[in-house]
Amino acid sequence: MKRIYLDNAAATPVDAGVMKVVSATLKKFPGNPSALHKEGVMARQALEVARGQIAGVLSAHADEIVFTSGATEANNMAIVGVVRAARTQSVAHPHIIVSAIEHPSVLEVVRALEREGVLVDYLPVDQRGLVDLKELRKLITPETVLVSVMYANNEIGTIEPIREIAKEIRHAHKMHNSSYPYFHTDAAQAANYLDLSTPSLGVDLMTLSSGKTYGPRGIGALFIKRGVKIAPLMYGGEHEGARRPGTEPVALAVGFAEALTLAQKMKVKESARVQKLRDALAQNILKKIPGSTVNGGLTCALPNIMNISFPNIESELLVIYLDAAGIAVSGKSACKSVEGGASHVILAIGKAETEQAGAIRFSLGRETTSTDITYTTKELSRIASLLREAHSQSDGV
Ligand code: PMP
Repeated sequence: MKRIYLDNAAATPVDAGVMKVVSATLKKFPGNPSALHKEGVMARQALEVARGQIAGVLSAHADEIVFTSGATEANNMAIVGVVRAARTQSVAHPHIIVSAIEHPSVLEVVRALEREGVLVDYLPVDQRGLVDLKELRKLITPETVLVSVMYANNEIGTIEPIREIAKEIRHAHKMHNSSYPYFHTDAAQAANYLDLSTPSLGVDLMTLSSGKTYGPRGIGALFIKRGVKIAPLMYGGEHEGARRPGTEPVALAVGFAEALTLAQKMKVKESARVQKLRDALAQNILKKIPGSTVNGGLTCALPNIMNISFPNIESELLVIYLDAAGIAVSGKSACKSVEGGASHVILAIGKAETEQAGAIRFSLGRETTSTDITYTTKELSRIASLLREAHSQSDGV
């Protein structure tokens, strides 16, 4: 049976051309990029071409791109690195602001810092998942060293007003006559559909993940604007401008650069194509499944993500039944799938815990077709009525 993969927000399949480039690069460049011999120099050249290519997509300088193992590491590096460096810049009590709907790789690191005495404020969001800009202005103090707001949310797809946030931050710089706070954005989910030009967005730090953009997994990057003071997370060699030690994975970097370039080249056409399919799926579901509602809305969101609540249905059960029917979706973000409990994102947009028990994320991608949407609608209606019936029978017992 053909599988229908609607979990592209958790992981994208590797592009076939990118896979070829990765395997050819693995073979062609066996050297360590730090070595002085020819093998080393050639590997270094390939790595630097990849870095330059990524910098080009971001309208950045090559020395502003630090390769990491993925977005989790880049987020940790941005947050811990800025706080640590600020302490050496005579900021006695660093304060950070993050949105309430960040990915756990942001929220958990700020919670860890909170336990170490760092002051943290959580920026609330409205029903659509959009951050409150007025509240942001109120929360920034002369001790605020970092504001971290994701470019697009991984559970409900909301696109945050990055340029407006940057404007608020520039206002704070003037008010406090300081280069703090820095502005970090986690763009892991945005790279396939949105503009990544860092000067236009007005960000100081930006996280990317290759595994979300049809590239190889195990690599990502942190954009660090020139002049931003940041301490390393790890200690070792002088790699990546002494910001991230360890022998660089040249083939992964080359694959990542190819994948990101391709995704950005395809983004306008692919956004329109995927959005049409997603909107059709939303319409079908809302029409055919009574009580179903979209979480966060579809208007200020990525074109490929849609989160829907199905009242009186357990999301885990729905995921399992859909899987058996050949459809892969997610009940909550993959990073949370081992824990129980409510999604912090669905709760933050004001949904009651009962409503969010049946929340499902559909994330479409390059391989999604209209036949997939038709089949998914049909199977979903069948399974939803089956599970509802079972639920009402168990309620009656
Ligand atoms: N941030 C966001 C918004 C994400 O969606 C993810 C992946 N779920 C991550 C960070 C973590 O990415 P990685 O797996 O590359 O560490």
